[in-house]
Amino acid sequence: ETEQRLQKIIANAGVTSRRKAEDLITSGRVRVNGQIVRELGSKFTKHDRVEVDGVPIEKDPKIYILFYKPRGVISSVNDEKNRKVVTDYFTEIIDARIYPVGRLDYDTSGLLLMTNDGELTNHLLHPRNKIDKIYVAKVAGIIQSHDLEKLRHGVIVNGRKTAAAKAELISVDQRKKTSIVRLTIHEGMNHQVKQMFKQIGSQVLKLKREQIGFLTLQGLTAGDWRFLKHEEIKALK
Ligand code: URA
Repeated sequence: ETEQRLQKIIANAGVTSRRKAEDLITSGRVRVNGQIVRELGSKFTKHDRVEVDGVPIEKDPKIYILFYKPRGVISSVNDEKNRKVVTDYFTEIIDARIYPVGRLDYDTSGLLLMTNDGELTNHLLHPRNKIDKIYVAKVAGIIQSHDLEKLRHGVIVNGRKTAAAKAELISVDQRKKTSIVRLTIHEGMNHQVKQMFKQIGSQVLKLKREQIGFLTLQGLTAGDWRFLKHEEIKALK
């Protein structure tokens, strides 16, 4: 049976980060098989009973992470060209095999959920559940109201009409001839946002996903991540 350091066992259970798990241990809040353990190096197996503040940690924990993906990172668990992938951000911290919920393009930044919960993944991605994904796109050209109407009513992407969307013009730069548009969709076709703008004759220059359902990037900068709160996980399901 493989042994693991206690702080890693606690971190992997999704209770907290490894750094904070170390604090829990040194402050005497962790028991293993009924005994308080304060040594950071101590190793145990999954057969040992670990409690934090008297509450047993989960054995095969589900992990839910909200990640602010930077531009220039692949939304996958590996890349044949050895570019940086999203899971690189978590290998040191989390043992469980987590993967991204859907994908953001290499050059797209923004909110990406990472989990090992396949059921929640399917739920979030299925168009039937109509979970909003909100994008902000900087696009070439001055977007007109009839362009927004087309985006709202649906355009043909990969031979299929996109579902009704929200499209809102945020600003235009008359000198540079660019526009900023917020687009809310609940489908997730390949490169959907870029394809939709292509259909109205515009090119996406910069793309960021700001929101999935009620989850936002508030408080985070690119490359940051946090665990979802229990209430958030419940509300997503
Ligand atoms: N639509 C795109 O075109 N790219 C993304 O990364 C996400 C949505």
